Amino acid sequence: MAGFRSLARQVRDPQGDLALRRYSLRKCLERFAPYGHRATWDHLCTRHTIEPEDRSPDPVRLVHALEELEAARAVWLRYEAGFAERRKREKREGLRRPGAFDDWHRRIWGGNGVARCEDPAVHPSAPLAEVLGRLISALESQPGAACPVCAETGIVWRQDLDCAPWAGPVCTGCGIVVPRPVLTPGALARARLIRPRDLASAA
Ligand SMILES: [Zn+2]
Repeated sequence: MAGFRSLARQVRDPQGDLALRRYSLRKCLERFAPYGHRATWDHLCTRHTIEPEDRSPDPVRLVHALEELEAARAVWLRYEAGFAERRKREKREGLRRPGAFDDWHRRIWGGNGVARCEDPAVHPSAPLAEVLGRLISALESQPGAACPVCAETGIVWRQDLDCAPWAGPVCTGCGIVVPRPVLTPGALARARLIRPRDLASAA
C-alpha cells in the first residue's frame, strides 16, 4: 500500500495523467483526513475551486490542495510526536491521565478523523493547518465549554455517528465531532441533554 508521501509525489507528477493525479490526492485522504475522507475532500475542493466530480481538474489547484493537506499533516505529526514523548515521560514518573484521553489519541493516531465531520458538506472553512492548530492548543490546555475550533457553545449529543465511537458531542457551529478530552465534564453533560431533535423542534 502506497504511503502518503509517494502518493503526494504522484499528485505532483507533471507527466502524470490528470485523472490519476486527482485519484492519488483522494488516496492521500485515506492516510490523512482530519474531517474524515468525504468532508476533507469537500473542504479541499471548496477552498481550491475544484469541481468535486471533475476527473481532470486544473493541476495547479490540485497541487495547492495537496499543499494545504501536507501543511496540516506536518502540524499534526509534530503534535503526535510531542505527545508520545510526553506520555512516555509521564508514565515513567507514574503520572496517570484519564483513560479517555489516551483512548481518543489511539483511535485517531496518524491524524485520520481528528475532527471528524458527520455531514461531509458541513466543516470548518479555515485552512486545515489552522484548524488543527486550534485543536492542538485546546488539547494542551485545560478542558473548556466551547468548540475548540469555532468557539461555539452549542454542542449537541449525536447517537447516530457513522464511525466509532458512534455517539458523541457535535458542534452546531462548524460541524466537527468535538474530541471529548477538550470538553469539561459539565459541557459533556450539557451536550447530552440536547439532542438534535430538540433543536429542530425549537426552530
Ligand atoms: Zn465548532
